Amino acid sequence: MSAIQVFKFGGASIISADAIKNISTIIQRYKGSTPLVVVISAMGKTTNALEKVLNLASSNKDFSDDMQALSAYHYQIIEQLFPKQASIYNEIHAILDKIENDLKSISKASYNYSYDRIVSQGEFLSTRIVSAYLQSAGIPSIYKDVRTLIRTDNTYREAKVNWEATGLLISQHIQPILNEANPPVIITQGFIGCSEEGESTTLGREGSDYSAAIIAHSLDAACVTIWKDVPGVLNADPQYFSDAQLLPHLSYQDAIELAYYGATVIHPKTMKPLQNKNIPLKVKSFLQPDANGTLVDAKEPLAVIPSFIFKTNQLLISISPKDFSFIVEENISDIFNLLAHYRVKVNLMQHSALSFQLSVDNDASKTQPLYAALSQKFIVEYRDGLELITVRNYNQATIERLMKNKTQWVEQKNSHTVRLVVSKEAN
Ligand code: ASP
Ligand code: MG
Repeated sequence: MSAIQVFKFGGASIISADAIKNISTIIQRYKGSTPLVVVISAMGKTTNALEKVLNLASSNKDFSDDMQALSAYHYQIIEQLFPKQASIYNEIHAILDKIENDLKSISKASYNYSYDRIVSQGEFLSTRIVSAYLQSAGIPSIYKDVRTLIRTDNTYREAKVNWEATGLLISQHIQPILNEANPPVIITQGFIGCSEEGESTTLGREGSDYSAAIIAHSLDAACVTIWKDVPGVLNADPQYFSDAQLLPHLSYQDAIELAYYGATVIHPKTMKPLQNKNIPLKVKSFLQPDANGTLVDAKEPLAVIPSFIFKTNQLLISISPKDFSFIVEENISDIFNLLAHYRVKVNLMQHSALSFQLSVDNDASKTQPLYAALSQKFIVEYRDGLELITVRNYNQATIERLMKNKTQWVEQKNSHTVRLVVSKEAN
């Protein structure tokens, strides 16, 4: 088995000069013992800031203040890490310049194309800085542009990976470096790919975890570690549960379902490429690198701990035929066509003889036109302000505790998972 390890560091782990020093220490500790590829996302909230300047530019508004803040943020970090004459200043200047130029020519291009071209630059800024810092700290590293490694189609903002081409590129450009006797750390960007035509693409927000999995899959890596500001995968969002617990071990299936139902700790697409090659995933804290964190692999966990996932702002839509006939395949296919057309993502659905119920995120720009279209064919009722609670490994006591002072509108159960659509007040 190969000994290659892939690390992923997200925005919070490189938010400041001190944070960059901290991850360099982590990298240094592993570097001697194992060939290492490090996937990095943009620093702090840079991706949000880039989305904002892009949106200002595309509605012909002034983006100079926001662009200025973005530049200042990156410059204050490099000023703390490098002496004045270091070449990193020119590299960062060139990227920031490119962003500004692209913002100025935005009107000629499609929005999604411009998005991938501009918003992806956050990762080029961060990886340039981290790899230069590692070098200056005496940790041999190589900067790789991930566009030479990950090939995608040209579905901008949600690009699909061409696995075969990606595998070839990675074995051509990365494997030989890692085969060297004492290989340098490879630093590359998360979130980004490259189309056949050579254009930048992105894999979807928070997609850097997925990038790490793609690279690990192609390299047959021994392990992937996602370094986070939490101790690992918790059984609930600490925002809702003050006594959230660390899950020390999950099966791939558990992790896939938790991510699918809305747990935000691992990007949902990450697990499958790892599961297919039986590559374990660790989720660890960059603040406590010696703690074990969470291990995800093929084995069934010994202890079964209930996990809770909350989705707020749910709209429950109930659809029934106008003529009081039954809900049959033909109606269902009409309903699905409308959902696809208005790009409304369904979180839960339930079908009975006379009605079809859906719980969806209540984004009015999508749900209002959907409601109008459905109403032409069906009787449509809705209830908003609801919460969708998913419990994995539930037991009756946990359900009763959750339902206290709440009204239940839908319940779905299978052997592992219960899903409840509820409103806050008791009936
Ligand atoms: N920087 C990108 C984002 O914030 C990708 C990532 O963080 O994984 O969405
Ligand atoms: Mg990010």
